[in-house]
Amino acid sequence: MTSLASLRPKLPSPLQEIEDDRFTGHGIRLVLKRDDLIHPELVGNKWRKLAPNLTAAAGRTVVTFGGAYSNHLRATAAAGRLLGLTTVGVVRGQELAGRPLNASLARCAADGMRLHFVDRSTYRRKTEPKTLAALLRTAGVDDAYVVPEGGSNALAVRGCRELGEELRGHADVVGVACGTGGTLAGLAAGLGPGRRVLGVPVLKGGFLNDDIRALQHQAFGGPRGTWCLDERFHFGGYARTTPELDAFAEDFESRHDLPVERLYVAKLLYGLVALAQEGRFAPGTTVAAVITGRP
Ligand SMILES: *Cc1c(COP(=O)(O)O)cnc(C)c1O
Repeated sequence: MTSLASLRPKLPSPLQEIEDDRFTGHGIRLVLKRDDLIHPELVGNKWRKLAPNLTAAAGRTVVTFGGAYSNHLRATAAAGRLLGLTTVGVVRGQELAGRPLNASLARCAADGMRLHFVDRSTYRRKTEPKTLAALLRTAGVDDAYVVPEGGSNALAVRGCRELGEELRGHADVVGVACGTGGTLAGLAAGLGPGRRVLGVPVLKGGFLNDDIRALQHQAFGGPRGTWCLDERFHFGGYARTTPELDAFAEDFESRHDLPVERLYVAKLLYGLVALAQEGRFAPGTTVAAVITGRP
């Protein structure tokens, strides 16, 4: 197996201050934490979460889970190709089997990931030991290293603690988009005292507070850091968008020459602009936005 270090990740990731009147007009500094530049293929928080798991896999077949548009599946597949690891992606939705693959899954397959489609009810039960064992058997995997959906386990959360450590002394408030919340759980643990994390969930549901607490418990043995969630910016749920959000993202791209990833980063930036306009950040505050990925 090729070593992770040989992939030359750009760590710590760059910090970039930008001028945006929607922030500066309220006396707020905005800095971008460019995790999207860590690695061209193992992008952003996926590097931070996968790297410790790929090391722990120690050459075993990496099995993981996701929906048809999962960034996590794509990153795992890319890691497999780059490192010479066998990867298996268990995909939610039996009906997708035998149909042409969408661009995201086609990319996974091109990277050598074996795709295994399962019906939604099996998918929901994938963490039950019996269901998982049966899944691995039908997928023909015997020596598996299993990474949970979205890649958030204790190793991943500890990997994301470094993101917080890199931001120490550089920001008062750190904004991050949340899927599983694993990135936020680690980030909050790594930030220094007196700093806080503001999470913007991109899924509808309101279950994330408990999930994040559970992830911190698994990774660190208890709660860490100061964080809260603002549930107002999911735009209907995962992979949903509106013309307003699209227009916002396009405008942000042209203002700042930053490619804005639409599933997560666009919603985070929209949320931060809204909060600045609502006066939620005191003048003099430095806000860091974690650019967790790239389009
Ligand atoms: C996966 C992903 C996230 C979500 O990370 P979680 O740790 O699951 O909360 C955020 N942004 C981007 C771009 C992602 O690909």
